[in-house]
Amino acid sequence: MENIIVIGAGQAGASCVAKLRAEGFEGKITLIGDEPVPPYQRPPLSKAYLLGEMALERLYLRPEAWYGENGIELRLGSTVDAIDAAAKTVTLGDDVLPYDALVLATGSTPRRLPANIGGDLGGVHVVRTLADVDAMEPAVAEGLRALIVGGGYIGLEAAAVARKRGMDVTLVEATPRILGRVAAPETADYFRELHRAQGVRVLEGVGLDCLNGVDGHVVGAILTNGEEHPYDLVIAGIGIIPNDGPAKMAGVEMDNGIATDSKGRTSDPNIYAAGDCASLPFRGQRIRLESVQNAIDQAEAVAKNILGRDEDYVPQPWFWSDQYDVKLQIAGLNTGYDKVIVRDGGAMRSHWYYAGDTLLAVDAMNDPRGYMIGKRLIEAGKSPDPAVIADPESDLKPLLK
Ligand code: FAD
Repeated sequence: MENIIVIGAGQAGASCVAKLRAEGFEGKITLIGDEPVPPYQRPPLSKAYLLGEMALERLYLRPEAWYGENGIELRLGSTVDAIDAAAKTVTLGDDVLPYDALVLATGSTPRRLPANIGGDLGGVHVVRTLADVDAMEPAVAEGLRALIVGGGYIGLEAAAVARKRGMDVTLVEATPRILGRVAAPETADYFRELHRAQGVRVLEGVGLDCLNGVDGHVVGAILTNGEEHPYDLVIAGIGIIPNDGPAKMAGVEMDNGIATDSKGRTSDPNIYAAGDCASLPFRGQRIRLESVQNAIDQAEAVAKNILGRDEDYVPQPWFWSDQYDVKLQIAGLNTGYDKVIVRDGGAMRSHWYYAGDTLLAVDAMNDPRGYMIGKRLIEAGKSPDPAVIADPESDLKPLLK
């Protein structure tokens, strides 16, 4: 093994190259990214960075110099032109780079509002890259009116930031409730109330009919309930699509993203995938995880497997979201739950997802202890009696024994 190429200089790509070096790989590593900046964290983009509370330098996963110091060639602002999987080469402009192992860590692209309803107007934004956030930031300003389309975590975080910055905020969610894809009604109820208490207009079962523009810039919107309002800024948080361009060039199998096995390997034994772009087997189904935990852990497993360690990647999902003064921490994956046990400790609250007697996941709101204990229980495969969980006075720590 002499040459390893990683395409995608984001969370997974950066984690993979760092792990390769940490595991003692001494050959050539090339990290190719189409953004002009070194790998950075995306979560603060819809939180502290958009709020203006985090400096740009703190977003970077490592200082740019680190890559050179560790013999990692960074090719930024570069898009791959071709991949020849038989010859094991990647073409980048005039360069044809050989590889022994190739890692696809290309992340995902946000869905955009269609152009035929005004999605291409100025003032209509998505939140994925540093460039996206820098472009919208001046319009996230006191006294202006924001329409947030989509009631998932990105939309809710954007609404919280816009509100904190003094905007008049409306959030529309076309399906019957916010967080419908990712959380139980109990968690949705909690965040709906939180946003309403902060003055956000949350409309569920209401979509965007079309945007109105003047001189190419959005000035308002007509909603599917017939309401028409002026808006200065529109932010769409309506889901993501895995970036599959390089995977298609390489001809590897796709199935809800780039299909990998439990080692992170694709249908081509020399090509691996990790992060948002990759799907993997989990509890008898194929899933794609859109989180920092998955990007790091899967990429590190890939690095080890490239070096012959033969390790299965078993996701231990965790996630977080910051909205106003609430920190939501999620452990586990709630897919397949049939009941939710609410542990209502007042300011500290947690929602525990069960399938039958099996604990699957926990949503903890301002309850780091509930989160940590829930996470450890899930990782240990332990399922506490729901009656104990439901009693906010009960001590959870003994459950870990
Ligand atoms: P990315 O970090 O997106 O990196 C992929 C990189 O590959 C990008 O730079 C992309 O431009 C590049 N690329 C794509 N195609 C090519 C190509 N053909 N050639 C070269 N380069 C290419 N997760 C959490 O766990 N908690 C959170 O609170 C949270 N908040 C988030 C908030 C926001 C606003 C966003 C956008 C995401 C958030 N996430 C959060 C999700 C998390 O950031 C992603 O799951 C994670 O970044 C995925 O890492 P990745 O390396 O797969 O993709």
